Amino acid sequence: MATIKCIGILTSGGDAPGMNAAIRAVTRSAIYAGFEVKGIYRGYRGLITGEIKQFKTENVSNIIQQGGTILKTARCKEFQTPEGRQQAYDTLKREGIDALVVIGGDGSLTGARTFAQEFDYPIIGLPGTIDNDLYGTDLTIGYDTALNTIMEAVDKIRDTASSHERLFFIEVMGRDAGFLALNGAIATGCEAAIIPEISTEIDQLEELVENGFRKSKNSSIVLVAESPTTGGAMQLAERVKNEYPQYDVRVTILGHIQRGGSPSAQDRILASRMGSAAIDALIEGQRNVMIGIRNDEIVYVPFSKAIKFDKPINRELLNTLRRLSI
Ligand code: ADP
Repeated sequence: MATIKCIGILTSGGDAPGMNAAIRAVTRSAIYAGFEVKGIYRGYRGLITGEIKQFKTENVSNIIQQGGTILKTARCKEFQTPEGRQQAYDTLKREGIDALVVIGGDGSLTGARTFAQEFDYPIIGLPGTIDNDLYGTDLTIGYDTALNTIMEAVDKIRDTASSHERLFFIEVMGRDAGFLALNGAIATGCEAAIIPEISTEIDQLEELVENGFRKSKNSSIVLVAESPTTGGAMQLAERVKNEYPQYDVRVTILGHIQRGGSPSAQDRILASRMGSAAIDALIEGQRNVMIGIRNDEIVYVPFSKAIKFDKPINRELLNTLRRLSI
């Protein structure tokens, strides 16, 4: 296998707080180990268009505390075609980039896996997504910050909900995964979480409503993961309004505030550890793995597992939520 002299780094797909901390960690660890580093802008699109810049340590100064990604991110349809990937490969050869670190979610790592296989090219992935939905890692970069943002928003909504004795449905992100909704609900003392993993939960909503949302309470908040399976907060609220007109129902969709903001201490540390581990992995000769963290230890998760396996919801969390919402 050819020796690696220069490492390229990119962020792709949905942005997540902590991506900058990861860029910094990859860049500095690589330079520390004697590699050259190049930053690739706008995800896979930058590989096709050649939007690439040499990175020194000062290029990543003062970014650990910033949300978003200084490398920008994008969704790139061309990379899903063999022609697009060939163009990306040609750019890498021309720029003398011998290995890539890709920071992104499920889609980005799927693209990385295909590319790595097609061109026998070394890639290390970092899980950068607020959804926490990648298999093989306890946490993903951005999840903790998003959870804290949800917690602060729901706390505020609780104040108005209890003043008016209202029933609120609050929609949070997580198209295929209920981690934000479930843990957000536990953290804010919500009455229920409606998550895509458990479709019968929707009928449990009916049960909850019929029990009068616990008569001892003067407000109720249900967190709903955005998803076709859950129907989203709007649809659930409509259903409750039609079937139980006695309730004063309101909907809040938290939307993009969940992606932004300065990363939490946990996300900064996670991103720093994972970014540093990506360089160790390349030095050890690892290829085509995602860096994960399990029981506080760094692990290497083959791309095939990280993207193919569903990360299960911990039933204990569901039981805790139910028990504590009486
Ligand atoms: P995320 O990484 O946050 O899940 P996306 O699903 O939008 O975000 O994926 C980001 C990018 O990864 C896509 O725009 C595309 O360039 C690339 N990608 C996604 N799926 C594939 C695939 N099956 N083959 C090749 N590239 C892909």
